[in-house]
Amino acid sequence: MAMPPYSPLAESMPAQERILVIYTGGTIGMQPHAEGLAPGGDFPTRMAAALSRLPLVQQQSLPAYEVVSYVTLIDSSAATPLTWQQLARDINDQLTAYAGFVIIHGTDTLSWTAASLAYQLQGLDRPVVVTGSMLPLEAPGSDAMDNLHGALQFAAKPALQEVTIYFSGQLLRGARAIKQHSEAANAFASPNYPLLGERVGDDFVYYPSRGLGLQQRGAPRFEIPDYRLISQGEIVRIALWPGISAWQLDAWLSDTRVKGALLQLWGAGNLPDDPDLLDVLARASGEGKLLAAISQCPQGSVHLGAYAAGHGLSDAGVLSGDAMTPEAAFTKLAHLLAQPLTLEDQRQRFLTSLIGER
Ligand code: ASP
Repeated sequence: MAMPPYSPLAESMPAQERILVIYTGGTIGMQPHAEGLAPGGDFPTRMAAALSRLPLVQQQSLPAYEVVSYVTLIDSSAATPLTWQQLARDINDQLTAYAGFVIIHGTDTLSWTAASLAYQLQGLDRPVVVTGSMLPLEAPGSDAMDNLHGALQFAAKPALQEVTIYFSGQLLRGARAIKQHSEAANAFASPNYPLLGERVGDDFVYYPSRGLGLQQRGAPRFEIPDYRLISQGEIVRIALWPGISAWQLDAWLSDTRVKGALLQLWGAGNLPDDPDLLDVLARASGEGKLLAAISQCPQGSVHLGAYAAGHGLSDAGVLSGDAMTPEAAFTKLAHLLAQPLTLEDQRQRFLTSLIGER
């Protein structure tokens, strides 16, 4: 990371009362290039210039912050589990030096990074707010200033003690969010859990009864395992389609490199009435692969076995992902498989809510 420049307020504040902003890339900092938008440089200066265009009362309410930029800025479509690990390590390294953190990230895989951070930073005792924007900082009508403003406001609230996403006036639990729109400013949703907070006029209201802060006591118990173990495609995500055949499922699951799979089933947890499909799943489980299932519907939960069409999944060793988002279920599999746990421990923890993800 490059050395941090300061916001105008920051020099007069002790570091422990400042927010650390970590810029990783994404549309928010992009500028036009010959091949299209690509990450642009000097984000700290450009961010300060953008925030200076906010109404005076909003500028005055901003907490003191410092900004660091990654040396290699990415479009978040290039993020990998190693990106998630790097961010968690950087937050861990700086944790006690700052009151809160804002992570600036491309929106395409923002909810994946947020979910992964939540598993790695279990027991977090201060805010980590991930944000970005749909339009670059300098674009007319950009949503960047509002998102940065709100993210900084929530990152300065000590009662908020988890990984969240701030976007378009809404504060969402990181491990409950999905990107729901490819163009609109309101790009993120939390389909199965209420908002943790929201902007109401010029106020940023946190709802503590919905957050993890009240349940967490004591020192953070971060788990930042070596994600190199799962960064070469060891976990696959398979969404059913009408006509899926056992040989197709087998082509994914019989590969010896695959250690885990997230299945996205129909509705409340159904798959075609084909015993060969269940055989493939049972064989993969028997080989020690971690298999979990969620629904393709963004809202609602799976109930494996509620219908005859889903009966047999549990016997085949498939774990229920309940109402988890694809992001939360996949990054949880990744997190568990990156640790030296027995298969039984991995299965047990998958079924347990670790950070309010289910
Ligand atoms: N492709 C961009 C990215 O994810 C989109 C964005 O930032 O909104 O980095």
